[in-house]
Amino acid sequence: MCGVIGVLGTSQASRRVLQGLQLLQHRGQDAAGILSHDESGFHFIRNIGLVETVFPKNFDEILTGDVAIGHVRYSTVPKANPKDKQTIGASSNAELSNVQPFLVNFPFGIGLAHNGNLSNFEDLSTHLRSSKIRRHPLTRSDSETILNLFAETLADETRDADLSFRHVCEAVKNVFKHAVGSYSVVTLVAGYGLVAFRDPKGFRPLFFGKRKEADGNLSYLFASESVAAQFLDYTEIEDVRPGELVVVTLDGEVYRAKIADEKPRPCMFEWVYFASPQTEWEGVSVYEARIRLGKNLARTVQAEIDAGRINPDLVVPVPETARIAAIALAEELKLPYRELLIKNRYISRTFILDTQDKREKAVQLKLSPVESEIRGKKILLIDDSIVRGTTSKKLISLVKACGAKEVYFVSTAPEIRHPCKYGIDFPSSAELIAHSRSSEEITRELGADGVIYQKTEDLVEALQPVRAKSGERTTPCLACITGEYPTEALTPLKTDLPLKLPNPLETPILESTP
Ligand code: AMP
Repeated sequence: MCGVIGVLGTSQASRRVLQGLQLLQHRGQDAAGILSHDESGFHFIRNIGLVETVFPKNFDEILTGDVAIGHVRYSTVPKANPKDKQTIGASSNAELSNVQPFLVNFPFGIGLAHNGNLSNFEDLSTHLRSSKIRRHPLTRSDSETILNLFAETLADETRDADLSFRHVCEAVKNVFKHAVGSYSVVTLVAGYGLVAFRDPKGFRPLFFGKRKEADGNLSYLFASESVAAQFLDYTEIEDVRPGELVVVTLDGEVYRAKIADEKPRPCMFEWVYFASPQTEWEGVSVYEARIRLGKNLARTVQAEIDAGRINPDLVVPVPETARIAAIALAEELKLPYRELLIKNRYISRTFILDTQDKREKAVQLKLSPVESEIRGKKILLIDDSIVRGTTSKKLISLVKACGAKEVYFVSTAPEIRHPCKYGIDFPSSAELIAHSRSSEEITRELGADGVIYQKTEDLVEALQPVRAKSGERTTPCLACITGEYPTEALTPLKTDLPLKLPNPLETPILESTP
């Protein structure tokens, strides 16, 4: 998972991008970068580490210009050798060359920041190297393949012409035609402006906003989460829609075109875990969704209590994400809510660590229990999800070691049984604790006295917009739960073109302004 941002139309562009990246830091802690542009060329700072460590104090003396894009990175691209379980760029392995934004010098000079994951990355790399195209990706990043697909068409289209919106449409259509997977993208085209687009299924968020500057001019922002736009005082915040392309030129002209029209499949895990609670996506606030997840889950937990299978005294959240749902769950169950796992705020998210051993140690370091309150109690522990089971297993033994009488583990997400192809680091099926285990086996494996998952229909219900027009329903991507991948109907790209993929080149532009 990653965070992307772009700002145009203010001398504060790189400062706002940096502030925005700080607000998007939860989306990736491996690396960060900002690229700006002015008449003297591109300016670049990127490195491995958190935003606050990557950028020097005088960053704005380096990153000059009225337009800038930025990226926080959390890598998910698998290595070519499937036996190698590490991921490219995962902390210890992170090569600087994989840190975004990426840049190509031809045509125009284009920088790109991408959030998502392509499942046909290997095929695309081969395609780019083919004798027809003869572009050689320098990294093993799927984002670089998107940049090359985009640049390729832009170069072809503009051979004898000035760059126009029509050319940009063709370039984005070329990405849509070839790329299979998730991509929310912001590009900076030198001398032209910002070009942002989302894949036709809209797996990952991307927002667009405007701001009236002190001099009366408008500046524009794209960002992975609305929280960044709000903080930076951008208004009229709206989604870049699935399959849509939005261009803002250096002259402040805005062009929009919906170039693919498919049923959106926003990733459920954005609401469950990834996005910030202040963000609102697809008309559903993340905070509100988590409250509803807690309320819906209460029905399932209540049924277990009524059946006499569990008898909890306290509801205890696993900080931070699960707190919101746990409060709602406790309210519904009329049970006391107690924060008895205290977070050491100086330890980063456990998933970012690259080996299982490191992850297990981090869980212990990260949370310490309030023993006196736990002793003798039957504890209902709530977390947002159970993936490998590392966190839950450790916490259950930790809470039991404090003298808890019984520990029931509750997940606000249903069983995660399949890997994610769209950018979340859910590992191979074999590593997923729920992959081929029954509920009893999971309970035994975790050492719990009961394990309760959210029902899939209750999850889907929690993600419905309250103010939706009648009949309008969000159909989130549930591939990690059901194993049904929304892009699977597409034939993966082979090097022998023409492709069997639907050809968006034939799809008309549905809307375009001005
Ligand atoms: P696990 O320990 O493998 O069962 O993973 C579940 C825990 O990791 C939960 O506490 C989640 O809050 C957190 N988590 C789940 N998915 C991710 C992810 N993709 N990246 C970072 N943390 C995650």
